[in-house]
Amino acid sequence: MYNAKAYSATSSISPLALTNIKRRDPNEYDVQIQILFCGICHSDLHQVRNEWSTLMPTVYPIVPGHEIVGRVTKVGSAVTRFKPGDLAAVGCLVDSDGTCPHCKDGFEQLCPNQTLTFNSPDKHLGGVTYGGYSDSIVVNEHFVLRVPSNLNPAGAAPLLCAGITTYSPLRRWGVTRGKKVGVVGLGGLGHMGVKFAHAFGAHVVVFTTSPGKQEDALRLGADEVIVSRNTDEMQKHAGSFDFILDAVSANHDVNTYLNLLGRDGNLTLVGAPEKPFAVSAFSLIFGCRSLSGSTIGGIRETQEMLDFCGVHNITADVEVIPIQKVNEAYERLLRSDVKYRFSIDMTSLRSE
Ligand code: NAP
Ligand code: ZN
Repeated sequence: MYNAKAYSATSSISPLALTNIKRRDPNEYDVQIQILFCGICHSDLHQVRNEWSTLMPTVYPIVPGHEIVGRVTKVGSAVTRFKPGDLAAVGCLVDSDGTCPHCKDGFEQLCPNQTLTFNSPDKHLGGVTYGGYSDSIVVNEHFVLRVPSNLNPAGAAPLLCAGITTYSPLRRWGVTRGKKVGVVGLGGLGHMGVKFAHAFGAHVVVFTTSPGKQEDALRLGADEVIVSRNTDEMQKHAGSFDFILDAVSANHDVNTYLNLLGRDGNLTLVGAPEKPFAVSAFSLIFGCRSLSGSTIGGIRETQEMLDFCGVHNITADVEVIPIQKVNEAYERLLRSDVKYRFSIDMTSLRSE
């Protein structure tokens, strides 16, 4: 074991602050990574504040962060795909059983024995796993991704969660040229959803509660932008969408969006608000619509997404911050005041 620097919270009401954590020495299958950038996902905030307590209660201290890009510093003797000096990335998963039907099909994100990057039982050291708000991490090679060399590492980090979480359902639901696609909530996930849907050739409509984001939405690839509080504007699109991706972090009326779907249209939830919400049966019955969910993506698909981003030069729009600004960044996230992902420059942690 060795000591690593990290930022952790010790309770649901504590700010994140500097601490020391233990990391395992890399075993033969492991890759040790010096972290360069870590994105801030709203899931970090949900879990730091124990907002998902019924499903996955937070174990404190928590070190969040699952959008990690860094430089390989050491590899185990059985590692074949990485060597020291390589640029590498880690997302929301650091382990799974590798034997269940989901793992065999490349859907590690559905494995019942998965290990999440943070707040998940740590099979090696006991306690829970610690995430990317840290100067280094040690991860089994299977869960380490390659980052195309043309991508800026600060903007590539958010691809590891916001990227794959939006890429995967857009692919699954066949978003291509000729489809009308809505993206609800122009935050970290939403803005990646817009970039991918646009790159896949769809007609993209953004729904936002923030009038000030309209110009950005168009620049990011939207064909139309609707301020969702304008009911007349919303009504014009009733029954017209093939697919809607809902990436809102807070409670809202999903029926409003279901009613915009056309025949056999689908709305996929990726946003994970704290409280359950009501769905009117009629929103689904009329139009034979469906409502579904999606969680990140498997390792194979995550690499496919990164490679797609390499070819199409897609990264997140990031505001790079030092780790010392992380608590302020959380408050801004709650005000929907981020354009469009915070990416923490981890060199700021090394100087502490
Ligand atoms: P984010 O950057 O904070 O973006 C959320 C956006 O939702 C905001 O920018 C805002 O967009 C909109 N919004 C916020 N409050 C709202 C309200 N009261 N009513 C309507 N819209 C509101 O968050 P994120 O990191 O993209 O994450 C979004 C959600 O996805 C979170 O719940 C997160 O935990 C979840 N998530 C799920 C997965 C998965 O695998 N399914 C993976 C990662 C994250 P506008 O300003 O445009 O309205
Ligand atoms: Zn995330």
